[in-house]
Amino acid sequence: AKLQGGGEFRFYAPEMNERAARRLALEADLRRAIERDELLLHFQPKMSLINGDLVGAEALLRWQHPARGTVSPAEFIPLAEDTGLIQPLGEWVIEAVCRQLRAWLDAGLRPPTVAANLSARQFRVEHLVDQVAQALRANRLDPALLELEVTEGALMHDVEAAVATLHRLKSVGVKLALDDFGTGYSSLAYLKRLPIDRLKIDQSFVRDIASDPDDAAICVAVIGLAHNLKLAVTAEGVENDGQLGYLRRHRCDEMQGYHFSRPLPADDFAQLLRSGRRL
Ligand code: C2E
Ligand code: CA
Ligand code: CA
Ligand code: CA
Repeated sequence: AKLQGGGEFRFYAPEMNERAARRLALEADLRRAIERDELLLHFQPKMSLINGDLVGAEALLRWQHPARGTVSPAEFIPLAEDTGLIQPLGEWVIEAVCRQLRAWLDAGLRPPTVAANLSARQFRVEHLVDQVAQALRANRLDPALLELEVTEGALMHDVEAAVATLHRLKSVGVKLALDDFGTGYSSLAYLKRLPIDRLKIDQSFVRDIASDPDDAAICVAVIGLAHNLKLAVTAEGVENDGQLGYLRRHRCDEMQGYHFSRPLPADDFAQLLRSGRRL
C-alpha cells in the first residue's frame, strides 16, 4: 500500500501500536517464563536410515504460557534474539538438556546424543564454550552425548571467529551439526574448514523430494557433498514413505520427522528408549 498522507498514517498507527504492545507484553512474559519454569523441552528422535536404530534426538524448546497456552518457538525465539533474552534462554536450554541426559542415565536408560539448537547471537557469546563445558561437568556427562546445531547464518557473520569457536567446542568433545543446510549463504569454501560432524538438510528441500526434480537434485547433491567431506547427513521434516524411500535410496544417513515421530515430552521419549522401537 502506498503512503498517501496523514489519513493513511492514522489508519496504520493503531495496528503498529498493537503489534508493538503485543511484543512488549510477550517480552515481559518471556522474562518471567525463564524464572517461573514455564519452559520445557521436547525431544524428536533421529533414526538411522541404514539400520533403523534410534541414533539421536533434537531438543526443541516449548513455552507453556499460563494464559496463551503453548507458544511456538518460531514466535518467541526471534523475539528473544532481538531483546538479548536469548542469552539466559540459550543457557537454560543447554543446562536443561544436560540435566535431562543425567536423569535418563540415572534411570538406567541409554540415551543417544541429544542436540541443542544454538541461536546466532548465542553463538557469539564470549563464554559459550565455558557454559557448555560447565553444564557437561556438573552433570558428569560424556561430552559426545551433547550435539550443538548451528545455522549457516550464525557462522557467516564472522567466519574466522566462528571457526575458532567451533574448534574450541570441538575440543570440549561435543558434536557439531550445521542446521538448515542450503537455506543460508553457505559458502562451500568455508564448509571444508568447519570442524562439524553433520549436515542437516533443511525440510524445505525434503518436502517435495519425491515429486520435484529440483528439490531431489539438491538433496542428492547435499548428500554427496556431505559424504565427500566425511560428514554424516540428516534429513529433517520427513513426513511420508515416499520421502523416506527416496532418501534411503540415495544413501542419506539419518532421518528426523513426523513420519517416525513428532517431538516428544521427556517421559514419552524415555518410553520410546525403553521400547527399543526402530524405524
Ligand atoms: P529447527 O531447528 O529447524 O527445528 C526443526 C523444526 O521442524 C521443529 O519445529 C520441529 O518440530 C519441526 N519438525 C520436525 N519434524 C517435522 C516434520 O516432519 N514436518 C514438519 N512440517 N515439521 C517438522 P519447532 O519445534 O516449532 O521449532 C522451530 C524452530 O525454532 C527450530 O527450527 C529452531 O530454529 C527454533 N528452536 C526451537 N528450539 C530452539 C532452542 O532451544 N534454541 C534455539 N535457538 N532455537 C530453537
Ligand atoms: Ca535444529
Ligand atoms: Ca533445522
Ligand atoms: Ca528450520
